Amino acid sequence: MSYPKKVTICDVGTRDGFQIEHKFIPTATKIEVINAIIAAGVRKLEVTSFVSPRAVPQMADAAEVYAGIDKSRGAELVCLIPNRRGAEDAAKAGVKTALLFLSASETHNLTNVNRSVQASLDGLKDVMAVANGAGMAVHGAIATSFGCPFEGDVPAERVADLAVRMRDMGMHHVSLGDTTGMATPPIVKRVVEAIRRRAPALELTLHFHNTRGLGLVNVMAGLEMGVTHFEGSIGGLGGCPFAPGATGNICTEDCVNLMHELGIETGIDLDALCAVARRVEQFLGRPLPGQVMRAGPRSKLHTIAAAKRAVG
Ligand code: ZN
Repeated sequence: MSYPKKVTICDVGTRDGFQIEHKFIPTATKIEVINAIIAAGVRKLEVTSFVSPRAVPQMADAAEVYAGIDKSRGAELVCLIPNRRGAEDAAKAGVKTALLFLSASETHNLTNVNRSVQASLDGLKDVMAVANGAGMAVHGAIATSFGCPFEGDVPAERVADLAVRMRDMGMHHVSLGDTTGMATPPIVKRVVEAIRRRAPALELTLHFHNTRGLGLVNVMAGLEMGVTHFEGSIGGLGGCPFAPGATGNICTEDCVNLMHELGIETGIDLDALCAVARRVEQFLGRPLPGQVMRAGPRSKLHTIAAAKRAVG
């Protein structure tokens, strides 16, 4: 089995993770976390969302957050944009990369944004015109790519069809979201293969959730298919909207640890990233699901004197 030599891991924690936090996280704290993630070597982040503050109050400070981010290291700063208004606000804020999304499942799309998938596709063109007019690069995201909590399996051809349409609109990068953690390795292979057949040059990102413990197993399936872009969330921030208390996004540090153990370069300093995860855990005041942030990498050895006896 040969894996890619190098991958890009995008951290989505300050958008996908923070957005479900009820208590408002101060703008300065958000900026501090984003800049610390960048300082640890992460070169792509989904930083915030230009969504209506009534819909998601936690993202009301998107423009201020964007303004405070350290741009000197050349990290790609992706902003989620749900509609035309969001694109106009993002343009004013100087955003360079927009992420536009829809769901592969008709029922999930209706529940999430109250319109059909076709209406969403038409809407994307409008948002894209504003984003392109402002000189932004536009990436696409397809939610429920590996299964829908209402409809069950989503046909791989349907996901491929949407990916092709996004490419034809001018998006050179499409992220496949496992919104409720329903992906399994065979499904990942089927979906990636279906897209590769029809859009071999389209750059794919895999966005897995660890809801059922298969997050990193699915990352392995992606690596085996030669995928080189993955998304994770610092400390494993985020949850599953349909299963209260269940784990959401895979954890960025755990994913980085896996890559390094496979000999795959990420450019990320794992210790520095774990320190950021612990800082996030501290200000949120509850344990996060990340594992390497607690155990440390396997190269971290312990002294016998400090060890407790353990069997098993
Ligand atoms: Zn997610």
